[in-house]
Amino acid sequence: MRNLKISFIVIVLLTFFIHVEKMEAASGQTYEVGANILHVREDPASDATIIGLLHKGDRLTVFQEQYGWVQTYYGGSTAWVAKHHLIQASPEVPAANSEQTATPAKTTEAAANSVTVTAPSVNIRSGPTLEYAVIAGASQGETFNTISKSGDWINVELNNGNTGWIASWLTSSSGASTASSSEQATETATTQVASVNTDKEPTSANRSLSGFNIVLDAGHGGRDPGAIGLGGVYEKELVHQTTNQIAQTLRNHGATVIETRTSDYYLSLDERADLSNAYNTDAFISIHYNSFPVVSVQGFNTFYYTEAGHQLGRHVHSSISSAVPLANRGLGQAGYKVLRNTNAPAILLELGFITSPYDLSVIQTADYQQTVADKIAKGLLNYFH
Ligand SMILES: [Zn+2]
Repeated sequence: MRNLKISFIVIVLLTFFIHVEKMEAASGQTYEVGANILHVREDPASDATIIGLLHKGDRLTVFQEQYGWVQTYYGGSTAWVAKHHLIQASPEVPAANSEQTATPAKTTEAAANSVTVTAPSVNIRSGPTLEYAVIAGASQGETFNTISKSGDWINVELNNGNTGWIASWLTSSSGASTASSSEQATETATTQVASVNTDKEPTSANRSLSGFNIVLDAGHGGRDPGAIGLGGVYEKELVHQTTNQIAQTLRNHGATVIETRTSDYYLSLDERADLSNAYNTDAFISIHYNSFPVVSVQGFNTFYYTEAGHQLGRHVHSSISSAVPLANRGLGQAGYKVLRNTNAPAILLELGFITSPYDLSVIQTADYQQTVADKIAKGLLNYFH
């Protein structure tokens, strides 16, 4: 009887420890707040009670994830925040890094200890997104020692002893596994740049949109407000905001971006197509938000008309759908005038419903718009290279 009791206690203790260990292995990820202000809520829902506020740059440890929400602790009790507003913080121990990087290619990237700038000129920022301030610049061929990585950004050591963040797609990293000194690493990086430039299929780290003309078409404008959503949100305004962010991102990737409208004025559909046809346009992307009388209708679509548009749409749509928390309504053919009259491969993106409370809560955030911009860039890179 006594033995049975001891066994029982041992089993209970073991279960407890195994459980604790499993929790730690599966969670405890550190994230940084990317939005200016982030609501902390009692439950994982956008209408749950707000129990606190976090600010840009605040760090939090995440213990579990549910439908786009992550659980943390706030003021001693469990709390939830929308994951969409969080940036994975740079790992503090190498072990955490290898956990995130599943593919061998990424492991090499993480192990690299220097990067060489491959774009003509790049900005070095104070943090790992385009929203951070530019603190320095660098030119093609310059090499930096790397400290850590966060998403597509690399934390590098600057010549003045400070540190900064550089976009990995504008650099090439050295395979540091064999390089023992930084001098050797520099050499490796230089050789890699040379070999990659002649390569027909460059790796994602050094592809760029340089040399490509992209026409961005912000839908509606002026006397044409487009759809009017919940709370009086105008499609033309949201579209303008989003298109600006996309334009900036594509330019950061080296693209030449032509915008059909840069402020709030009316432009006919023919004028939009004509503008694109006047350039040697490589891709035409029209940006819209959707509407529907039934508030439960939600999600994003990509439309094309021609076969070339289909190919472009395939790449951009799959890139966006891998990253946004909106319902995927698919890629489809549609005879929109702006798609029919444009000579270049053309697509029209409906980036969510301004008549859906859920979509609206997501699409109005700078984070969503930046994610869309990043994924359009990635889709274009995949389409062109
Ligand atoms: Zn529209």
